[in-house]
Amino acid sequence: MSYIFGPVPSRRLGLSLGVDLIPPKTCTYDCLYCEVGRTTRHTLDTGPFVGLNEIAGELETALLKNEPDTITLAGSGEPTLNSEIDSIISFIKKKTDIRIALLTNGSLFWKDDVLSKALDADIILPTFSTVFESTYKAIHRPCKGLDVSVIMRGLKDLRRRFKGLIFLEVILLSGLNDTDTEIEGLREAIADISPDRIQLNTVVRPPSDPRAMPTDMARMEEIKDFLGSRAEVIGYPPSKKKSTGHDSDIPSVIEMAKRRPVRLIDIAEALNKTQDDAEQLIKGMIIKGYLSEKRHGEEIFFIAK
Ligand code: SF4
Repeated sequence: MSYIFGPVPSRRLGLSLGVDLIPPKTCTYDCLYCEVGRTTRHTLDTGPFVGLNEIAGELETALLKNEPDTITLAGSGEPTLNSEIDSIISFIKKKTDIRIALLTNGSLFWKDDVLSKALDADIILPTFSTVFESTYKAIHRPCKGLDVSVIMRGLKDLRRRFKGLIFLEVILLSGLNDTDTEIEGLREAIADISPDRIQLNTVVRPPSDPRAMPTDMARMEEIKDFLGSRAEVIGYPPSKKKSTGHDSDIPSVIEMAKRRPVRLIDIAEALNKTQDDAEQLIKGMIIKGYLSEKRHGEEIFFIAK
């Protein structure tokens, strides 16, 4: 199970089964707040990073074992860089009625081929954090060629052509994009994009850059009120359904990994799981920022963050 992770409780999507469409760490951005780490392949070029052939079998097996609320296309980077995303969506639609969400930084919808390939998802969750060029560059450290006007154009095209739900995520960083001037600019731009929901988020996991500081809850509530009735602050959701047991295993793995670096086999034995199941759990925990990976000689160890 190397491309499927979870299901994990998502703050926005209920019980979410993740499909990882991009290898670490390939992205159009290198955000200060990224939970996956620094971008090592910074690109605007799409490609068949992970193909349908590689995902299909794993996904079918995962769907036999789990009943998620949502299948979430994501990645250890930007999933719309995957040029096979349309055939992956179409394959999932043939297999199940479970809704498909696309978790994206929203930086590529100005490209007609990228937008066209995403249109059959049910929910698209793009990020949009500022209308000021200097703030945009400071927060996202984008590839050359990306700027606020290009991103805005793509998001407006998305609204015009996409028939599903758009949940626009605004990541608030203390002192960077949570000032009155920033939020006034955002309100105007968001009115033009017209998403179904505006979801306010902040730094809730260890970021790739310590300059990413969270906005406090009181300020987030103020911003929510200012942005109107479609805005909400995303909280940690209670688990809606009992999962396969992975979620309840997370604290035990963190405790083990806090004491000493652990190997896959240590985790599998301690939790009485197969190595495949333990690997699936670990992958989700790495993406969520609970664990990091360290090679020592021939062995890979996992360390609590
Ligand atoms: S937070 Fe998302 S968009 Fe930003 S660098 Fe990480 S993977 Fe890319």
